[in-house]
Amino acid sequence: MPRILKAELNKFTTKQDFLRPKDVPEDVLIKMKEAIANEREWYKNKKAYRTKEDLESALKRGELVRVGYNEYVYIAKTVEHPVLSVKMADILREIVEQFKEKAPETEFIVIVSMTRTIEDLKLANPLLGEEDPHCKGEAFDIPFEWLRINKPKTYEILKQILEDFKKKGKINFVEERAINMWHVCRNPNYK
Ligand SMILES: [Zn+2]
Repeated sequence: MPRILKAELNKFTTKQDFLRPKDVPEDVLIKMKEAIANEREWYKNKKAYRTKEDLESALKRGELVRVGYNEYVYIAKTVEHPVLSVKMADILREIVEQFKEKAPETEFIVIVSMTRTIEDLKLANPLLGEEDPHCKGEAFDIPFEWLRINKPKTYEILKQILEDFKKKGKINFVEERAINMWHVCRNPNYK
C-alpha cells in the first residue's frame, strides 16, 4: 500500500478540490478556457458519452478500457468512471513508467478525475460542457497541491514529465492553479 496516509490523501481528493471554487476570478477562468480551447477543437467530431450505459457499450466495443488501481496509480473516489480511451490509457501508462523510473522511491500518482458522462456534468465543474474531453474518455486530472507542499522534488519530476509529453505533442497539459489541478488531455494528432 502507498506510503501516503489515507487521511492525508483525503485532504486533496475531496470533491471541492476540483470543483470550481466560487471565488475564482473571472480572468483566471477565461485563461483556463483558452488553455483547453484546442482540445475542444481536437475532439469536436468525437461523440461525448451521455450515460453509464454508453460507457458500458464502449467498453464492450473495446473503445474504452478500465483503468484500475495499481502500485503507482491511485484512483480517487472522486473519479466518476475509471475508464479511458485505449490511447489515453496508453499515455497514462507511459507517464507512470517514466515516473517510476525517475522517482522510484516516490509514492504514486493520484488521479481525481477521468471520464464523466453528460449526466455527471451537472455535478462537475460548470466550466465544462458536452465538448469537454473528459466526456469523451480523453482526459484526466492530477491534483498537485499536496505534492507541491510535501514532496517538492516529486512535484518537479512529475511536472517535468508532463511538460515533456506536451513538448513532444502527445498531450495538452494545463496547470489549473485556481483549482490546483494538472489537466491532461491526449492530442489525437500525435503520430
Ligand atoms: Zn481535466
